[in-house]
Amino acid sequence: MDIIRLRGIGVSPGIAMGEVRLSAPVIFTGRKETISSRRIDNELRRMKRAIARTRAELVKIKGEIKKKMGDEHAFIFDAHLLILQDKSLLASLERIIREDRVKTEWALSQINNKYLRVFEAINDEYFRQRKSDISDVLAKVYRNLEARKKAKETDEADKILVAHELLPSEAASRLSRGTILGVAMDMGGQTSHTAILARSLNLPAVVGLHNLTQLVKNGDYLIVDGTDGEIIVNPPLAVRKEFAGKREKYNTYRKDLQKTARLPSATLDGEKFYPLANIELPEEVNNAFSYGAEGIGLFRSEFLYLRGSLLPSEDDHFAVYSRIAKEAYPAPVYIRTIDIGGEKALPQLNIEKEPNPALGLRAIRFSLRNKDLFMTQLRAILRASALGNMRVLIPMVTELEEVLEVKHLFEEVKQGLRDHKVKFDEHIPLGIMIEVPAAAAVADILAEHVDYLSIGTNDLIQYYLAVDRSNEYVSYLYKPLHPSVLRLIRFIIKAALKAGKDVTVCGEMAADPLSALFLLGFGLRKFSMNPIFIPKFKKALRSVDSRTVEKVIRDALKLNTAQAIEEYVIEEILVKYPGVFLMGPTS
Ligand code: PEP
Ligand code: MG
Repeated sequence: MDIIRLRGIGVSPGIAMGEVRLSAPVIFTGRKETISSRRIDNELRRMKRAIARTRAELVKIKGEIKKKMGDEHAFIFDAHLLILQDKSLLASLERIIREDRVKTEWALSQINNKYLRVFEAINDEYFRQRKSDISDVLAKVYRNLEARKKAKETDEADKILVAHELLPSEAASRLSRGTILGVAMDMGGQTSHTAILARSLNLPAVVGLHNLTQLVKNGDYLIVDGTDGEIIVNPPLAVRKEFAGKREKYNTYRKDLQKTARLPSATLDGEKFYPLANIELPEEVNNAFSYGAEGIGLFRSEFLYLRGSLLPSEDDHFAVYSRIAKEAYPAPVYIRTIDIGGEKALPQLNIEKEPNPALGLRAIRFSLRNKDLFMTQLRAILRASALGNMRVLIPMVTELEEVLEVKHLFEEVKQGLRDHKVKFDEHIPLGIMIEVPAAAAVADILAEHVDYLSIGTNDLIQYYLAVDRSNEYVSYLYKPLHPSVLRLIRFIIKAALKAGKDVTVCGEMAADPLSALFLLGFGLRKFSMNPIFIPKFKKALRSVDSRTVEKVIRDALKLNTAQAIEEYVIEEILVKYPGVFLMGPTS
């Protein structure tokens, strides 16, 4: 047997070893099968029956998943049920069947192609991934046009699931059975549903493997190394042994992580700090807490706009926010209002292409141009705030006038709710993201007008250093430890603290233990990051004395370059705390 090693994206760490179980995808027909006009009504009934069957199936799976995995995983099926109810989708299906006199199979395949094209044109990984929700629902309807046999669950026991692309609901139902060992997929990225589910179920997974499904067959032996993002097909015995050892080590490391998650978040001298989680889907809440998060520091609400071809209603927003608030309660939840526009275009809104999207009509600029959408979102956040643990976060603020306008609209929405005797948290904190350099430079002024600041270092660094955060040619210049970046961030933190306001960092910088020491030294205590980085971050901060770090950082800022600063801090810190940056095999 041939040995094949392939590199992909490791989206859920750990090692899984076992036999391949290939998952067969739904293939939409390429054949335009026409029908006589007499049969159109029949065909429409057939289409509606398939939709009704799909609805019943979704409700049933939702109930099962809810029992096995909890509400947050069942949630995805609500999104699918909503897509099924989407009137424009149903109208398009009916129109194609009637006007083109075709079978439902062809109509579904046309609609699927249309969505694929729209989503492929979107220049944003996270948004592109959402096309699979729609494809998933369409594929289910497609399957339900014919009665079919049920797949045997036992076929997958103790196997590695290999798929071209797992549709989200398929991923939820197959992964949650608790029988498969790991996942390997041709398609997918970090933010795909399969990736998120695999992480929350601790199933090792590698995605983005391009053509793996063409290289393996059922019964092949597979190693999935979700930590290093590699898979090995039919390895010799020596390699199997080596990976069995690696698996042992990883499992011990994971247990250590869980222990770290339960340890107090405090420095050696007893300074309390708060690890918070950045999430993109409501399903991620419980997983974030299992990594030691003490709140949701950033919920990127964009996902709500990607669940179907319609804009989310106030109740859609409300359902998501109140679910997150309940699950996190009493821990805080920061809901960021939508950060769309520019390159994150929305098919529903027909936004014009802009010549320079990063500097264009995005985030709060977009929301203030589309006030109805914005106020709908604010109203839903307020309605969901009654428990008292919610905060509103406004992205991409540039100047005080925007803050004043937001506050004015916020008050108008609150008054509307009061008039209708709807309960909400009267003291809900309103904060802004500091990610535009102009806002950073007047952080002291802005801090007077809001309840807290949240520093978005991802964008702040790109705009301050004029370095596109996703352009590999200039990535050598993207330096969080550039002295000008450090001075600016120190200024923002000090400005907030001086005004007596809360301050957090929610960009990737918080997740890097070395950078986090700088932030700690500047007085920051709230750090929000991708939850998988929390244990390593927490270990680092628990290993140091905050006053010592403060002094080292103060001295480091007297140096002139990022490199000199970095070397100085690493040396000083390692002499005092040799184990500070050490962590197990995933570090
Ligand atoms: C940031 O810019 O740092 C941030 C957290 O926002 P996003 O990554 O969603 O742009
Ligand atoms: Mg940002």
